[in-house]
Amino acid sequence: MSKVLIIGAGGVGRVVVHKCAQRNDIFREIVLASRTKSKCDSIAAEIKQIKVATAKVDADNVPELVALIRKEQPQLVINVALPYQDLTIMDACLETSVDYLDTANYEPLDTAKFEYSWQWAYQDRFKEKGIMALLGSGFDPGVTNVYTALAAKNYLDEIEEIDIIDANAGDHGQAFATNFNPEINIREVTATCRHWENGEFVESSPLSTKRVFDFPEGIGPLNVYRLYHEEMESLVKHFPSINKAQFWMTFSDNYLKHLEVLQNVGMTRIDEVEFQGQKIVPIQFLKALLPDPGTLGKTTKGKTCIGVIARGKKDGVRKQVYIYNICDHEQCYAETNSQGVSYTTGVPAVTGAIMMLTKQWHAPGVWNMEQFDPEPFLDEVGPLGLPHVVVEGEWPEL
Ligand code: NDP
Repeated sequence: MSKVLIIGAGGVGRVVVHKCAQRNDIFREIVLASRTKSKCDSIAAEIKQIKVATAKVDADNVPELVALIRKEQPQLVINVALPYQDLTIMDACLETSVDYLDTANYEPLDTAKFEYSWQWAYQDRFKEKGIMALLGSGFDPGVTNVYTALAAKNYLDEIEEIDIIDANAGDHGQAFATNFNPEINIREVTATCRHWENGEFVESSPLSTKRVFDFPEGIGPLNVYRLYHEEMESLVKHFPSINKAQFWMTFSDNYLKHLEVLQNVGMTRIDEVEFQGQKIVPIQFLKALLPDPGTLGKTTKGKTCIGVIARGKKDGVRKQVYIYNICDHEQCYAETNSQGVSYTTGVPAVTGAIMMLTKQWHAPGVWNMEQFDPEPFLDEVGPLGLPHVVVEGEWPEL
C-alpha cells in the first residue's frame, strides 16, 4: 500500500509511470511532478489501471520540493529528472524523512564531471534520519551493478576484471538524435575516458579506444568505444578484487561523424557564450534543436543488448561469465509508448522501488545497487520486462 512521487516527465519518467501502474498491487497512489506540468498530464492520460495525480515542481528549488513532499506524503521519491537535481531532491528527502531513488549520479551543471562523492557525502545524514537512498537504479548504472554482484555471488570466487558492454543496435531513422536526454548524453560521450587498471583510473582521449564485439542473439559484430561510466567507481570500491574495469558502448559511424562536427564547431560547449546580447549555452541550444528522445519510440526499430563480462577464478581455475539482457525497441513502444533506452532505464527504477517498498532491500543510508543481494532484484526485473541470460564461456580480451 505505497504512495510514490515520481519527479521528471521525460522518456524515462513515462516508462516509470506505466510500470508503476502495471504493479498497482504495490504502487497504490502515483504522483508525477515535473517542471512542465502539461508533460505530466499527457503521460497520466495514457494510464488506464490507476489515476495518476500530477503537479508542477522546480526540482532545483528545495523549499518547493519540500512543500510538495509534505503535501503528498509519499513513502518514496523516484528521481528521473536530470542528474543536476539529485542533490536538491536528496536535501528535500532529508528534510521530510522520505526514501529516495535515482538512476544517474549527480553532475554539476557547469562541469562535465560525474562522480559519487557528492551523494556518498549524504551517508551519515541519511543514516541519522533512518531513511534510505538507492543510487543509480537504471540499467547502466543499475542492472549492470546487479549483474556484477550476481557474478560475484554465484559464478566467481573473486572478480578480477569486468567489461560492461552496452549496444544500442536500434535505428530511429533520424540523421542525428540521442536516445536519452541529448545534453546528458553528449556530456557523457565527449568526457575524458577513464578506465580502472591496477588500483587507479587511467585517462585517455574521448572515444579513442575502439574494439569490435560480437553481440549475441543475432545482433552480431559491432564497433564498441571505451567510455567513462559512473558504475565503475562504485563497483571497484565494493569489489576491491577488480583490477581492471572498462565500459564500452556502440556508436554508429553516422553518430560519430555528426558528433565530431558539432564538437569542432563548438556546439557541444557547456559554458556560456554571448549571442546577440544574450548569454546562451551551446549544448542547451543544441538540445532544443535535436529530436526529443521521448518522441523516437514510434520509429525506433532493433534491439539493445547491455551486459557484463566478469572474469576471475572459480576453485582456482580461470573462468568468464557473460550476463546480459536483450530488449526490443518496438515491443517497448507497444507496451509503454517509449523506445528501449527509456524502457531499460525505467523498468529497473521501478524494480529498485519495489525492492525498497517491500523492504527486500532496505537499510538507512546511501547505497549502490551491488551492495544488496542481486537475486530478489533479478527475480522481479525479469517478469517486469528485462530478463537476463547467463553464459559461461570464453571471450577475447577487449
Ligand atoms: P528527459 O530529458 O527526457 O526528461 C527529464 C525530465 O526532467 C523532463 O521532464 C524535464 O522537464 C524534467 N526536469 C528537468 N529539470 C527539471 C527541474 N529543475 N525541475 C523539475 N523537472 C525537471 O530525460 P530522460 O528521461 O531521458 O532521462 C531521465 C534521467 O534518466 C536522467 O537523469 C538520465 O541521466 C537518466 N538515465 C539513466 C540511464 C541509466 O541506465 N542509468 C540511462 C538513460 C538515462 P522539462 O520537460 O520541462 O524539461
